[in-house]
Amino acid sequence: MAQETSRNVGPVVLLGPPGAGKGTQAKRIRERYGIPQVSTGDLLRQNVVQGTELGIAAKAVMARGELVNDDLVCDMVQQRLVLPDCKRGYVLDGFPRTAAQAGWLDALLDHELFDNSRPTRAWPIVISLDVDYNQLLLRITGRRSCPTCGRIYNVHFQPPRTDELCDEAHGTKLVTRNDDRLEVLQPRLTAYQEQTRPVADYYQRTGRLISVNGDLPMDDVTGQIFRILEDHHA
Ligand code: AMP
Repeated sequence: MAQETSRNVGPVVLLGPPGAGKGTQAKRIRERYGIPQVSTGDLLRQNVVQGTELGIAAKAVMARGELVNDDLVCDMVQQRLVLPDCKRGYVLDGFPRTAAQAGWLDALLDHELFDNSRPTRAWPIVISLDVDYNQLLLRITGRRSCPTCGRIYNVHFQPPRTDELCDEAHGTKLVTRNDDRLEVLQPRLTAYQEQTRPVADYYQRTGRLISVNGDLPMDDVTGQIFRILEDHHA
């Protein structure tokens, strides 16, 4: 599908449990519409690798599969959203993850809606990827990524041509994310049920939640998401 970079897309929020495909779909939206993917998980992992103050605070919390403090995450998101590449819109992947973060985002966008100097002034399009529990387990425990090029594989559904080696980055050995290990999975899913499910409920109550069947093949899910974004701007 051709790239569509001529108009504002506005903020897009992708909701869903770990392993629902938010990262994959966010990348496809980024490619099609030329807007950045703002993944709080990726930003936090970068901070951990760089050893920033935020990274030091977040590292142990992430390793336990728990959520990082709301204020720290919101500050990090705010610093990212003011960058010029977010002017036509952005895809939030992994944020908001608590009711407090959803309230904070609404307040931020509410403020922007009345700021004529901001071209992305719009409410977010909130898309929830709904996935069966057993599918989630296979997706998360099978997930591998290439530390060189970032490409994501799944040993069950999209294995590399050679076992555990990247097809593209000269055979770099694939890695499993620290928090994709089985023992960390349960706390992550609990954090989702207890803290992030209410976010979907909040958007549902306010009539802003659009649900997509995330069990469908990846390309079908992408097709549905693109249609939602096109309809929204029709
Ligand atoms: P993800 O890559 O989205 O699965 O995020 C990995 C980990 O980063 C999560 O398990 C949390 O520890 C942390 N994290 C990511 N996004 C958030 C957020 N919006 N609020 C709090 N913690 C987050």
